[in-house]
Amino acid sequence: MKHDLSTEPPVADRSLARLVDRCWAMGNTGNCQSGLVAAGLLSRLADIAGDDRAAAEASSQIAWFCLQLGLPDRGHDAAIAAKRAWVKLRDIRGQAIASSILSWLLVEMGLVDEAFIEAAHGLDLAERQGHRDVLAFARNAKAVTYLYCRQDHLALPLLEEALETLRPGEAPSLRSLVLTNLAYSQVSLAEAAELAGDTAAGHAWRIKAIATNNLAIATASGCGDLWNLRTALCNGAEYHVCLGEIGLGEHYLDRWLQLPGDIGLRSRIHYLYTRGELLTKADRLHEALAVCQTAADLAENHKQADHKANTSRRLAEVFEALGDHEAALRHYKRFHAAFEAQMGETTRRRAQHVESTLENEKLRDEATTLRFQAQHDVLTGLPNRRSFEAALLKLEDTQFCLAILDLDRFKAVNDNHSHVVGDAVLRKTAEILAQCGALTAFRLGGEEFALLFVDQSLAEASVEAEEARLKIAECDWAVLSPGLAVTASIGLACSTSNTFPKLIEAADRLLYRAKAEGRNKLVAG
Ligand code: GH3
Ligand code: MG
Ligand code: MG
Repeated sequence: MKHDLSTEPPVADRSLARLVDRCWAMGNTGNCQSGLVAAGLLSRLADIAGDDRAAAEASSQIAWFCLQLGLPDRGHDAAIAAKRAWVKLRDIRGQAIASSILSWLLVEMGLVDEAFIEAAHGLDLAERQGHRDVLAFARNAKAVTYLYCRQDHLALPLLEEALETLRPGEAPSLRSLVLTNLAYSQVSLAEAAELAGDTAAGHAWRIKAIATNNLAIATASGCGDLWNLRTALCNGAEYHVCLGEIGLGEHYLDRWLQLPGDIGLRSRIHYLYTRGELLTKADRLHEALAVCQTAADLAENHKQADHKANTSRRLAEVFEALGDHEAALRHYKRFHAAFEAQMGETTRRRAQHVESTLENEKLRDEATTLRFQAQHDVLTGLPNRRSFEAALLKLEDTQFCLAILDLDRFKAVNDNHSHVVGDAVLRKTAEILAQCGALTAFRLGGEEFALLFVDQSLAEASVEAEEARLKIAECDWAVLSPGLAVTASIGLACSTSNTFPKLIEAADRLLYRAKAEGRNKLVAG
């Protein structure tokens, strides 16, 4: 994708990292076709190298290039894959970018409600990470959804906020993108004012929009972002044409024609529409007809229902202006058919989006389950040894006590009452320990448990540990198996001036003493 969102964190392999940077650079200069090819290559190389971060980058970039090129369906799939990959990497920044791109793609697919939810999610994530450009990008994406819902009064302040997020000179490509949209929102406000009969306010907004858009053009031109430059030039032409300034509009479009580099479908169709509109306004209807026909052919070749509908309607309008009502009717009928096809297409896209979202949620649930399983013991549900070690690391510089609790003669429980009863005893013991509020219990393995007493002195922890021992000894074990009785021995040590291994060793030694002194006993030291 665009701007300077590429700085960190790095992917593992140096050559892959270089390719990631090159893709971003192509995004920043509007070389979307080459960018898409490079991002596809990056994706394959990342897969081969098993580099998840590079793969996630590749998916994000593919999504962005597809958006720029006007390939929303392919972009949608890539954005979903990117989201999934960044979630797996637990990278909030990556998730924010992917969600923001996805929201914009959804807008392009005509799924505005879905886009709105996604954009809000992207902004929420962007606010939780520290990169200004990502925050500005997410604000811009949410504003785009506002613009499509005709909530111009909400879009405008959000775009201004996005601009303020960036420091002067920072991320010029992104700045030009935001400025382009800001100008668009000002034109929308002009239209609203004119509709309400306030021509003066409408005119003022239009003048403002042209100034903002010129700033976008200068910024895009300054940083060599040809994609933004093309968009802003077309928009600028349209804004001038609306004011009746045909010559100025033509000047913008001529500049568009002179730009080098590859042009995607989206930019080309945008240009043709604008040129067609200008020619219609200028009453050069035969030229307008030729341009609209080119756009219609393009839409036909690319099988794009939304563009087909648009171009048919434009052709109909030009024929109508020419007084050829028969041809106008023919194209209006075509418009109607394309419009219906587009509705069907939107329904299909909605279904597809819902399906991939569900799949995403399923994967997230699976990841949560896996994480839980990695940290917990299957039999008792208590946190396991791995969690215990992690918990100890977090307790550095904290006063705490550690107890090791071991069930007494547990082998005999298995031998005399069966392994199944033995398992039930372990589960019940875990339940008892989990209910002791002042401690955190872990199952270390077998019939051995660790108990952590955070912020407690040895005296305080002794009281709690003794209570736990009593609860086990006094439990009605016979309900599990007639004649069953269970006790535990505990060694309790204090963290003061002890390293972790020494502390565990000390608790173990005290436990051994408890066993030696007859079991069902707490020894604290
Ligand atoms: P002591 O009082 O000295 O601790 O004697 P003990 O019998 O409890 O000690 P020992 O270490 O000899 O035996 C522990 C037994 O715990 C042996 C093993 O079969 C049993 N055990 C370990 N894990 C499980 C388990 O998950 N389920 C069941 N049912 N038994 C287990
Ligand atoms: Mg034992
Ligand atoms: Mg043991």
